[in-house]
Amino acid sequence: MTHGRLFIGGRWQAPSDGGSREVENPATEQVIARVAEGGPRDVEHAVAAARVAFPSWSATPVADRVVLLEGWYAELRAVSGQLVATTVAEVGAPVAVAREAHVDLGLAVLRGSLDAAAEVAWEEEVGLSLVLREAAGVAACITPWNYPFYQVLAKLGGALVAGCTVVLKPAELTPLSAYLLVEAAERAGLPAGVLNLVTGAGAVVGEALVTHPDVDVVSFTGSTAVGARITALAAPTVKRVCLELGGKSASVVLDDADLVRAVTSTVEAAMLNSGQTCSAWSRLLVPAPRLAEAEEIAAAVAAGLVLGDPLAESTRLGPVVSAGQRATVAGFVDRAVSAGARIVAGGSAPPRSLGHFHAATVLSDVAPDAEVVREEVFGPVMTIQGHRSDDDAVALANASSYGLHGGVWSADPDRALALARRLRTGQVDLNGAAFNPSAPFGGYGRSGNGRELGRHGIEEFLETKSVQR
Ligand code: NAD
Repeated sequence: MTHGRLFIGGRWQAPSDGGSREVENPATEQVIARVAEGGPRDVEHAVAAARVAFPSWSATPVADRVVLLEGWYAELRAVSGQLVATTVAEVGAPVAVAREAHVDLGLAVLRGSLDAAAEVAWEEEVGLSLVLREAAGVAACITPWNYPFYQVLAKLGGALVAGCTVVLKPAELTPLSAYLLVEAAERAGLPAGVLNLVTGAGAVVGEALVTHPDVDVVSFTGSTAVGARITALAAPTVKRVCLELGGKSASVVLDDADLVRAVTSTVEAAMLNSGQTCSAWSRLLVPAPRLAEAEEIAAAVAAGLVLGDPLAESTRLGPVVSAGQRATVAGFVDRAVSAGARIVAGGSAPPRSLGHFHAATVLSDVAPDAEVVREEVFGPVMTIQGHRSDDDAVALANASSYGLHGGVWSADPDRALALARRLRTGQVDLNGAAFNPSAPFGGYGRSGNGRELGRHGIEEFLETKSVQR
């Protein structure tokens, strides 16, 4: 498969220096595609095309924008099988996970953005003022490799409904679904320059976008370190920077909860997508007297996750995304064990000779300040800690520089909600409640400052103007 061109101003064109990059299937270690490698001159062209398209797209009535975007949604649904196959190939996600957590959820967040167009207060009266919400301008959308289809739609739904024009830079490791997305937008008849695609390196294409004086908004999902760098790089041009960063989320099991259900669900969620989920519950907090029981349940669940060929319907655990990521994950596990952690399930030894697989790993006997408790591993690795009371559980859960997600398990819904109010995180699920593709998603602290999805995700891409009369 070759995607040798970039999409700029409504035309597919070769990158200015003719470069390309290989894409690997992490399960087979085979090169499956070659994609265009953009450079600074391509960013210049793409930003210029987005700038030219902005006046007309932002002045298009929102209802008309939504009609065009409904066409895009329909085109994407029509190729959902191809999107699933591409996600399996480039991420290594098991086909069932690719279908539900990548493609169906991606489509659901786009659906949520389209529906939320009607919820935005595009104009409101505040005393003598008419307050207008207007598109913020040209948006640079920079996305990570873990849920490539979903992450792009979480940004583009909000940006395009808002009336922004976009330059999209997907992750180097997983750029293929972005091509399908842009081809679908082209078929749906999105006007030239509204959506531009420049694939390439973060340090080159990403930084050229972030520093470009004609980019008004940077919407970034990725690591906290890169988010911090982007904030600094965007400061001289006073851009709006919306950050969706890493996490180290806690699942808090209270003493009246159904332990089997809570631990089972937490382990399954922590290992979803091989643990490469920003909101993964990578820290399980259980009542201290029941720690041994929780370990036993967690070990059985982790061992029961079928690891292997992502194309098999029964597979639950695919590889991690790359050899480098596998080495990073294994390093965390080895250092945790050296620091005194006990392996309850899994371990760092490669479970297969081919593919970047890492076993589902559960660690206990971890100190609250251990590296594996504080740092985001971004692999199929979780810790279990005991807590002595609700207050202790809150203190342990909040002892993190991150604040993306959390879970609370209790037989008493009021008690669960009361505890959720005390967690310093942008999302909390009570008793395993389902993900809501229209509710605001984002982090506290070093998990970022943005909110994606639904109405809040549109508002990220809007300016506010007050007209006094
Ligand atoms: P990353 O930060 O390495 O890269 C993310 C994107 O930024 C890529 O497209 C990359 O090319 C680009 N980039 C890298 N350096 C850049 C620079 N200097 N300037 C501009 N762009 C640059 O992250 P990753 O490894 O792809 O993704 C994993 C991280 O993403 C994890 O920390 C995870 O928690 C986080 N994440 C967060 C969310 C969320 O919604 N909060 C969702 C998914 C992933």
